[in-house]
Amino acid sequence: MAYLYDSENIFAKILRGEIPNATVLETDHTLAFRDITPQAPDHVLVIPKGPYVNFDHFAMNASDAEILDFNRTIGTLCKMLKVQPGEGGNGYRLIANSGEAAIQEVPHMHMHILAGRPLGRMLNPA
Ligand code: 5GP
Repeated sequence: MAYLYDSENIFAKILRGEIPNATVLETDHTLAFRDITPQAPDHVLVIPKGPYVNFDHFAMNASDAEILDFNRTIGTLCKMLKVQPGEGGNGYRLIANSGEAAIQEVPHMHMHILAGRPLGRMLNPA
């Protein structure tokens, strides 16, 4: 089944400037902004500007330039947030909830960057 992108999702509205956001970094292909309900002192959402529903949709369909830009932007954000473990930071977690099992709420591909407190183990028991 092909993915259908809902252009009325909240992140599409943010990208069109219809809803305000606290931008941390913007590039040609990528936007990063603060999560409205932060789960950690640093909680940044990183989204491609293209119409991708989730991580695998993005990874399989985005251009090389989009994928490179997205990943490089995450690296830049880790530096900006001073969370790089090799550079004196305390580390971070990346999460890309995709689909029902992961309880993805917004159907536009996004990576959470979480940092600024101990984050516990990877998953809670089911
Ligand atoms: P998901 O559960 O889909 O991985 O995460 C969606 C995230 O989007 C949630 O952490 C939620 O707090 C965040 N979010 C939902 N609506 C808005 C909004 O209008 N603005 C911002 N900045 N974040 C939002």
